[in-house]
Amino acid sequence: MSQPPPQNQPPRILSLALPTPLRRRFDYLAPANSPPEQDQDWQPGQLFRVPFGNQSMVGLLLEIKSHTDIPIEKLRPATEWLGPEQALDDEQLSLCLWAADYYQCPIGDAISTALPALLRQGQWQKSQHEPRYRLTTEGKGLPEGALKRARKQAVLLSALQQHNNLSRAEIDTLEISSTIIKALIDRGLIETYIPEQTKSENAEPFCITNNQFLKEKPLDLNPEQLTALQQIQVESFATYLLDGTTGSGKTEIYLQAIERCLCDGKQALVLVPEIGLTPQTLSRFLRRFNVPIAALHSGLNDRERLDAWMDAKNGTAKIIIGTRSAIFTPLKNPGMIILDEEHDLSFKQQEGFRYSARDLAVVRAHKLNIPLILGSATPSLETLHNAQQKRYQHLRLTQRAGNAKPPQIHLLDIRGQQLDEGLSPLTLDSISKTLNRNEQVLVFLNRRGYAPTLECQDCGWMADCRYCDARMTLHQSPAHLHCHHCDHQRGIPKNCPNCKSSRLHPLGQGTERSEETLRQAFPNTPVIRIDRDATRQKNSLNRLLEPVHQGDPCILIGTQMLAKGHHFPNVTLVVILDADAGLFSTDFRGIERMGQLLLQVAGRAGRAEKNGHVIVQSLHIDHPWLQTLTHSGYHAMGELILKERLKQQLPPFRHLALLRAESKRPEIALEFLRLALSLAQKIQPSSSELNYLGPLPAMMEKRGDRFRYQLHINSNQRKLLQTLLSKLALELEASALNHRVRWSIDVDAQDMS
Ligand code: ADP
Ligand code: ZN
Ligand code: ZN
Repeated sequence: MSQPPPQNQPPRILSLALPTPLRRRFDYLAPANSPPEQDQDWQPGQLFRVPFGNQSMVGLLLEIKSHTDIPIEKLRPATEWLGPEQALDDEQLSLCLWAADYYQCPIGDAISTALPALLRQGQWQKSQHEPRYRLTTEGKGLPEGALKRARKQAVLLSALQQHNNLSRAEIDTLEISSTIIKALIDRGLIETYIPEQTKSENAEPFCITNNQFLKEKPLDLNPEQLTALQQIQVESFATYLLDGTTGSGKTEIYLQAIERCLCDGKQALVLVPEIGLTPQTLSRFLRRFNVPIAALHSGLNDRERLDAWMDAKNGTAKIIIGTRSAIFTPLKNPGMIILDEEHDLSFKQQEGFRYSARDLAVVRAHKLNIPLILGSATPSLETLHNAQQKRYQHLRLTQRAGNAKPPQIHLLDIRGQQLDEGLSPLTLDSISKTLNRNEQVLVFLNRRGYAPTLECQDCGWMADCRYCDARMTLHQSPAHLHCHHCDHQRGIPKNCPNCKSSRLHPLGQGTERSEETLRQAFPNTPVIRIDRDATRQKNSLNRLLEPVHQGDPCILIGTQMLAKGHHFPNVTLVVILDADAGLFSTDFRGIERMGQLLLQVAGRAGRAEKNGHVIVQSLHIDHPWLQTLTHSGYHAMGELILKERLKQQLPPFRHLALLRAESKRPEIALEFLRLALSLAQKIQPSSSELNYLGPLPAMMEKRGDRFRYQLHINSNQRKLLQTLLSKLALELEASALNHRVRWSIDVDAQDMS
């Protein structure tokens, strides 16, 4: 029961963030029967259990107030205070509040993203290594809706999909009985396992130097590296763009900068792209440093994630390496933030809380007054622009470190050539010569599957996805048609559904087909395919790459998974099969992305003593972008693109937000955006400072059976855009159409599709 506050004392009102998609805070009275002196221990960042509708939720305290706009008799008391531990410390909380505000995201959603799952439930205990439950490969592959008739089984399965793995206690909270668990185990869909103990420090330190933090001696820097390192000040905030070609020794600079940070008794937070956090990356840090390192990657279960988080919070972990969401990790003694491959798209979350870890890193480093290093061989144009404007300090590394030379890039005109399944005779010849020198070849094709689609040779029918404006990709193992946009799958028809002809043929090349072609052309050489399909199982990427690291001649064929961060010393030839895909993209960032991808892939060639060559097959070798990129380099191309963006008033010269709406009924999504436009015009009429474009259909108008539209809002003043968006969001939330469409706001949108 709620008790009225004592007559002469102002009420204690708890303003909480709850995990709901509503853009507001929730007010509660203090828990019934809580001793009045207890509130002296209450602090923002702590958790309270509260009633919400007829459920119970855990909320995070934002503020203790004595006044609320809601009549006090309508407020319900919180159920329970979950104790003095702060789930988010003041610094993290202020970052989350800033980010929720900037990205127009409900604070509850932002906090849910920032907090490890167990903390969200108020569980602080350290691991006990009890058995846990997870999906088997079969369970992972089960198509959606397969367990429709066994609802409880489906609930557990989807919970395991979301959380990776669960303890018995966690499963109990879903009200799922042992019978249900046993049924799923018997069907081979789930299994139990004992999580490994968190690895303790391995190997004895062999101190070559007298520096207690080091296990191995740092490399002697070359003059360029030395200049760059000397410019990095560890005492205060500054953003450095470490702009160095692939293999120029950026990582070595990170390591030596971290060393200085450790000597000052501080922690370093290192962010890497999603697939950049390989054991190879980790082992470089482990080899160098004699300090506890916490790694936050997607392979962790909830318990391991919480352990790593707590190690960072209490200062045990001196170096924290993680992907995007690690930007929210608590730090006891923050000393430095490093973000590698800053141009990588995985730093921007594309759904829910659409934050950019890179941009938040700037905000966080500034608040903490510590340095931030952004590293890349192909910096995003936003970042290059910031460096040109002197907001970031630009550090250049133009030479490869050690003895490695930059790879030579050859544009190969394939117009009118007789191609063998996408490979020109000259390309095949170069591959063969490279293998004969006992070196390795990397073939890049950014399309997984066997072929982009299946075509009828008699009537021209193509396998379209029923739910998307897209073709279905043909896969061979197992043989099926698969839509990469909505995941819809079906069997391969024997006859054309249109004309009944049996002449159905694969159209174009995917990685599976190129793998087959290369195996036939080079029967005595191992061909290793790397793409999302080949690496579904945990650790399969490392297993597949083992022979490559051993250095024997082989051919690697794969997608952009091969572009990032790998160091293959014996790869001397890189072949880019389809460079043209990015040239004609309707996304204004298409060219920038193509340039980045091309140079990142090219950068895998010749990283050690032997020289590297890159063959770029193209039907458009005269295309000015391609010419500039290959002859004058990424930065020259960047300059040209920036001029173009200035002319067209596109980012980074304007700030851009996207309002997206989608619905099964196109007219409702459009109506929603028309409403949004008229509301927005009332708040902020179009002018040269702020203008609107749309509603427009998305690049893929129909996807997953929903019709998708966008309203673009751009401004030359961040503040103006922010103010408009926050007012607009509240009005849209209150509108009658709110629940009839799926809508979202994407501030500084990166993916325009
Ligand atoms: P990046 O991060 O820029 O791609 P890395 O730091 O991975 O470059 O360096 C590429 C290669 O050059 C690595 O094998 C690294 O050990 C080596 N290397 C880096 N700096 C030096 C140096 N100063 N002297 C000799 N070798 C170096
Ligand atoms: Zn046909
Ligand atoms: Zn589809």
